[in-house]
Amino acid sequence: MFNIPNHKIQSAEILCVGTELLMGHTLNTNSGYLAVQLAELGIPSYRQIVVGDNPERLRAQILESASRADLVLFTGGLGPTADDLTMETAADAAGLPLVFDQDSYDGIASFFTKIGRQMSDNNKKQAYLPQGAVILPNTNGTAPGAVFPCSAPSLSDPDHKAVLALLPGPPSEVVPMFTLALRPLLEGLAPYRFRTAYVRLIGIGESAAETQIKDLIDAQTNPTIAPYAAEGECMFRVTQRIQGDEDEDALTPVIEELKRRFGSHIYEIGTRSMKQVAFDLLLEKKWTVSFAESCTAGMVSSEIGDIPGASQVFRGAIVTYDNQMKETVLGVSPDTLMKFGAVSEACAREMAEGCRRVMGTDISVSVTGIAGPDGGTEEKPVGLVYLAVSDSAGTSVRQLTLRGNRMRIRRVATLEAFNLIRQRLL
Ligand code: AMP
Ligand code: MG
Repeated sequence: MFNIPNHKIQSAEILCVGTELLMGHTLNTNSGYLAVQLAELGIPSYRQIVVGDNPERLRAQILESASRADLVLFTGGLGPTADDLTMETAADAAGLPLVFDQDSYDGIASFFTKIGRQMSDNNKKQAYLPQGAVILPNTNGTAPGAVFPCSAPSLSDPDHKAVLALLPGPPSEVVPMFTLALRPLLEGLAPYRFRTAYVRLIGIGESAAETQIKDLIDAQTNPTIAPYAAEGECMFRVTQRIQGDEDEDALTPVIEELKRRFGSHIYEIGTRSMKQVAFDLLLEKKWTVSFAESCTAGMVSSEIGDIPGASQVFRGAIVTYDNQMKETVLGVSPDTLMKFGAVSEACAREMAEGCRRVMGTDISVSVTGIAGPDGGTEEKPVGLVYLAVSDSAGTSVRQLTLRGNRMRIRRVATLEAFNLIRQRLL
């Protein structure tokens, strides 16, 4: 078995193989996942490339990437069918013969036993792996991965050798294989270690947030502060580069400074999403929640339904799109609808209160708004959204003017629904 070269991996490229990616039929989520993993490992990643299932172009790309980078990280093309040829093409580029590996064959056979299906003949192909490769077991599928060296001279280094690491295509196989088998191999080879914190903010735009800490950003060297904008929220990634055995925590002082400057705009220091933060607060307080949704039409419910254990706090939701439904199911008064309309502070308030009454929950949130593209007026433009939150202490309403298309308006309204819960429970 080959020893992964004991020189540091200073550069990596991610090479995704599959015609379905090139055609746009499959969204290339693996590259994003792997890029984050490399960054966390402290391995600089310089290129992401997609090639189709074509042996000539694939071979040329492997040699090109291998001549530039110390690590080429592959996904895709390890399947049993004839169009999956990453393993044989990479082995060929590396000048290694494929040899039958009994352990891998047994692994594939036992995978089929586990799922109660007959193994087909072409799966045997997946047990042929480059001679001397480090084999990465597949805990969630058939194709094993492999790590092996490839000589690829470059102009500056005629003796250049890259490490090729081949992972399967399905994300459900990539994640466990990377986490369990490949990451431990790569950990010792990164030139640096990184310590990272994520500071997540709501209620302030990315550019305004960045302006407020321009002095910190201008003066930064280590840790670095990088702003990211997302839909309806923004985030700072604070990263400390650690060299050698140095152990000083340089992140905490920066985070403390961010807390001083942004106060309650910060909803999370870590990786939890807004809905997770709201859910955790509900759980902590043992409060039940329900939603009355007009413009989001079930999106808020669907989002909380994504969280494992949602049933511990989530009682249900009422989607009242039509005014008649708002009246009969939620008890919104016809007067309110006539005088102020469905997209109004008063209607949002009555929706949340009615929902809480009907569902009998500790807290209820309502959403009503104009998602567009039609239906806006000068007085009530597209993007006008009212959200109300109601609990035993009373009801309060928030008015938002959101920009963007229909989907964005509904998604940001959903985010704000969870934000209202968070603020009420804090
Ligand atoms: P393959 O191993 O190339 O046969 O890929 C198997 C399946 O994995 C494909 O049909 C895709 O659904 C999925 N897949 C392959 N590559 C990627 C990728 N880069 N990102 C997300 N899914 C992928
Ligand atoms: Mg494929």
